[in-house]
Amino acid sequence: MAGAGGSADAGLCIHQVTLMESCDFRQSLECLARNSVTSTAVWRAKLEEIGVGSAARLLADTGVQAVSLCAGGLLTEPGAAASRAALDDNRRWLDAAAAIGAATMVTLTGGLPQGSRDLDAARQRAKERLVGLLPHARAAGVRLALEPLHPMVCGYRSVISTLAEANDWLDEIGAGDELGIALDSYAVWWEAGLGAEIARAGARILNFHCADWLPDTGDVRLDRGMPGDGLIDNRGIWRMVKATGFAGPIEVEIFSARNWWKRDPDEVVRTVKERVAEMG
Ligand code: ZN
Repeated sequence: MAGAGGSADAGLCIHQVTLMESCDFRQSLECLARNSVTSTAVWRAKLEEIGVGSAARLLADTGVQAVSLCAGGLLTEPGAAASRAALDDNRRWLDAAAAIGAATMVTLTGGLPQGSRDLDAARQRAKERLVGLLPHARAAGVRLALEPLHPMVCGYRSVISTLAEANDWLDEIGAGDELGIALDSYAVWWEAGLGAEIARAGARILNFHCADWLPDTGDVRLDRGMPGDGLIDNRGIWRMVKATGFAGPIEVEIFSARNWWKRDPDEVVRTVKERVAEMG
């Protein structure tokens, strides 16, 4: 069983958001480091608190590697001005990701604009703007990891909900290595044919996020469970992801306003390590 301290586990990444309310930017890295967790995904709101320069120094000082920046995108607002603003924003975030050494920027499409019911138009705008970001991603050396989210958050976070849709988009766009997919078990565990879509995604999978779906969930966004506490076959999904040749870490990403965010961060990290060790 993995506990506090001990040897570093290169196969585990704990997202900064998992320690959202108990730690500031520096404290989250220090907590990970003293528990021998050497990678994280930097949460954009946390980065904004301290700025890119300080973040890069703290990552270097603690020896924690940022595998990605979460999250960019949000590309669905209508109009030319909104389009320019969204693209400019994302270019800045791509530069920030590069500055902290992150290989990917997790990218959400965004939801339906306020007052709109035109889902197809929102999808079309998001797809076009994603294409518009590709040259900057290439230049920055940061890969865009498109993340479909659970359909319950279609209205406000992501107008694509399945890995099949993400695969279709990537087929259509026909980009190179600068565009791939972030697969989150919490978002797609319910998807029919998931195994076939994981195989189809293959080397396009850039990040594997993991949490659990609580049978009595109180909030589909902010009440994620610790792997092992819910209904998701994380071990099975992880096995399918590894079968594609995926060489990255398991990234545990837990938004948990009523439970894990309230706990001692060392306890949270120790629990994540134990549960991930059980995933094989
Ligand atoms: Zn995720």
